[in-house]
Amino acid sequence: SAKRHGRNHDRRFRPSLEVEGDRQLAIINDLRQALAQNEQLEVYYQTQHRLDDGELIGMEALLRWHHPQEGMIPPGDFIPLAERHGLMPALGAWVIDQAVAQLANWRAQGLVVVPVWVNISALQLIQGDLESRLISTLGQYRVAPHYLGLELTESVLLDERAGDISPRLEALRREGLQIAIDDFGTGYSSMAYLKRLPIDKLKLDREFIRALPHDHADAAITSAVLAMAQGLNLDVIAEGVETEAQRSFLMARGCRHVQGFLYARPQPAGTVAQRLKPASTTYA
Ligand code: C2E
Ligand code: MG
Ligand code: MG
Ligand code: MG
Repeated sequence: SAKRHGRNHDRRFRPSLEVEGDRQLAIINDLRQALAQNEQLEVYYQTQHRLDDGELIGMEALLRWHHPQEGMIPPGDFIPLAERHGLMPALGAWVIDQAVAQLANWRAQGLVVVPVWVNISALQLIQGDLESRLISTLGQYRVAPHYLGLELTESVLLDERAGDISPRLEALRREGLQIAIDDFGTGYSSMAYLKRLPIDKLKLDREFIRALPHDHADAAITSAVLAMAQGLNLDVIAEGVETEAQRSFLMARGCRHVQGFLYARPQPAGTVAQRLKPASTTYA
């Protein structure tokens, strides 16, 4: 359909990372080295906002790679590669460590922090020690678990290699972490799992937001998801909100949270810190 083509067209042209095997290996080696040497990689943060008054409610941690020769390589290009070559658990662990350390750092600067959401890949979930790693990282930096959210896509949640993840998610939530389904509506989209998986939030994919409010199908899907989520007592955050018209459409249908270029692009930690309020200094 025209829509599917549209989705591909608006992606950046990919310099054949997907086809050339040699080049893939070169990229993976570069990435492994960047990770080992703790350079070139950086976590950016994109703010999330309450829709009615714009209040900052959270941030998504998004990995960036400043390659010395290639320039900025988008995560959509290197993360699938890292996942295929088994580098993703290590890379994902690095992102978690950075995000939690950043929270501690902001707090030490006297800023009021908001929850940071990290993306979790399939292998991170499959390779077992995610929970203990999360808990020990939070403990190490003395950050309360409710400041950390995990974003899992439907395909990650329903990956059979991970077994029944429901009790694992439940345990994480008992610790205080929050769980969101990322890119909601674009995966397998069996509604049944919404009944059995312990989840706090749905992230409505940008695919459904882009052509709002004029596209009838997207308007219908978005409205239906919002109504359903309300019935299930789940929060919804709309991804990729770029225009005021999208914002008001979502607002009229009861969507409470938004993330998108209309508010902010993903930014380095130092830049996004300007959005954090200073903690009130009340001394006893
Ligand atoms: P995602 O988790 O769905 O992240 C949202 C993506 O949408 C980000 O792309 C963000 O920059 C982009 N975006 C946000 N608002 C807008 C908007 O208004 N307009 C447009 N056009 N785009 C918007 P990004 O940073 O390129 O990341 C792409 C994907 O790479 C992410 O999609 C996520 O699946 C993956 N990713 C990024 N960082 C990590 C990571 O640390 N771990 C894992 N496992 N995946 C990651
Ligand atoms: Mg995400
Ligand atoms: Mg998403
Ligand atoms: Mg996405």
